[in-house]
Amino acid sequence: MSEVFEGGCQCGHCRYRIAGKSLSLFACHCRECQRQSGSAFGMALWIQHSEITLLSGKLASWTRETPSGRHMMCEFCPECGTRLFHRQENRPDMISIKPGTLDDTSSLAPVAHIWLDSAQPWSGINSECLQYPGNPEHFGLLFDRWDERREAAKPA
Ligand SMILES: [Zn+2]
Ligand SMILES: [Zn+2]
Repeated sequence: MSEVFEGGCQCGHCRYRIAGKSLSLFACHCRECQRQSGSAFGMALWIQHSEITLLSGKLASWTRETPSGRHMMCEFCPECGTRLFHRQENRPDMISIKPGTLDDTSSLAPVAHIWLDSAQPWSGINSECLQYPGNPEHFGLLFDRWDERREAAKPA
């Protein structure tokens, strides 16, 4: 079963569509995500790169180094600055979407929280979520948990 979602930046210049199966959704409490979002944490919805289409607009990009010394390309709307996508050089087949930019944000409950060592003390974490003090060594469990959630949500 395929899912179709659309989203875009704040000003409407950049619009995108996802058609396919999302892989995982988690919240990251690292300082970079705090600064990037201008808030307490960032969120990442991972999908296969081939499943996203840019419907309108042109993205600008900026690249930063991650704690592991790799590079992450961050893409944003050049008009309003809304961050839309992250791509990691070690996962070229995947793209991380900033899910708050989706038109429908009603199903954005994460399955995991990472980098909790730098989380704000008041950010209540649902105890059913996977929790990591830093970066998970493997993301497989985050994928599995998301898959289970999607299966459970399907109408019988
Ligand atoms: Zn914009
Ligand atoms: Zn982060």
